[in-house]
Amino acid sequence: TGTPLAGRVAVVSGASSGIGAATAQRLAGLGAKVAVLARRKDRLDALVQTIEAAGGTAVAVPVDVTDRAAVQAAADEIAERLGTVDLVFNNAGVQLISAIEELKVDDWQRQIDLNVGGVMNVIAAFLPQLTAAAADGPADLINTSSIAATRILEKFSIYSGTKAYISHLTRLLRVELGPKNVRVSAIEPGMVDTELPDHVTDADATALMAGLIRDIDVLQSDDIAETVAFIASVPRHVNLTEITILPTAQA
Ligand code: NDP
Repeated sequence: TGTPLAGRVAVVSGASSGIGAATAQRLAGLGAKVAVLARRKDRLDALVQTIEAAGGTAVAVPVDVTDRAAVQAAADEIAERLGTVDLVFNNAGVQLISAIEELKVDDWQRQIDLNVGGVMNVIAAFLPQLTAAAADGPADLINTSSIAATRILEKFSIYSGTKAYISHLTRLLRVELGPKNVRVSAIEPGMVDTELPDHVTDADATALMAGLIRDIDVLQSDDIAETVAFIASVPRHVNLTEITILPTAQA
């Protein structure tokens, strides 16, 4: 059918731009009710309008996912408004690459706070709903990692460290949650054309990223959205655990 995700209740973090925004639209287009999380309320409101105009259901929940209490409050609010969450796309992240000797310690901390701490806050807040939902239907926890989790890339040290954490965390969570019927997945994209490089504070690293995006036909957010939708749409007994997605021309 055209609505394989009908009846599902999804949460997408980092939904105000890039991969998260595209995925929220895709999941809603396939019939899921979607809660969209990020800090920029104006972007979330516009996304909800777009989804509703296309006949979908979405609610905007502005939240900074590094604030554990705020994420818990968001989880309670979403359960109230949409029902028990059975799909979490744990996607908010920031990439602030720089040479280690620059000692951009504030950038190091921001990446750890969001890419590790924020991801853990989302897991803590939504896991009870996922395990409850798994008792009688599909339930998915899908974490956004990166090819940086496994590649050895200059200037990527802290970012890569956070993504290696996400990929390995995903494997470990699967061992505990698979037997409870919660599927756990990591997606590891290569270069995707989003706002991600806009936040880099190191000029050399910014040029490096811009060059990569300019020189090859990189992935678009819709390509990742399609993959997330696929992970959630396969039969309940099938868990796609780790999916690497590269632009064809990226070495
Ligand atoms: P974007 O910068 O477009 O999206 C990042 C999202 O995270 C935004 O919606 C942003 O919203 C949100 N966000 C940032 N800080 C917070 C916060 N404290 N609380 C809540 N939300 C927050 O980049 P992408 O779409 O590319 O990034 C999505 C994920 O994909 C990230 O985890 C990234 O590491 C990963 N990734 C991206 C790749 C790429 O090439 N683009 C490759 C591999 C992985 P707001 O500012 O409104 O809060």
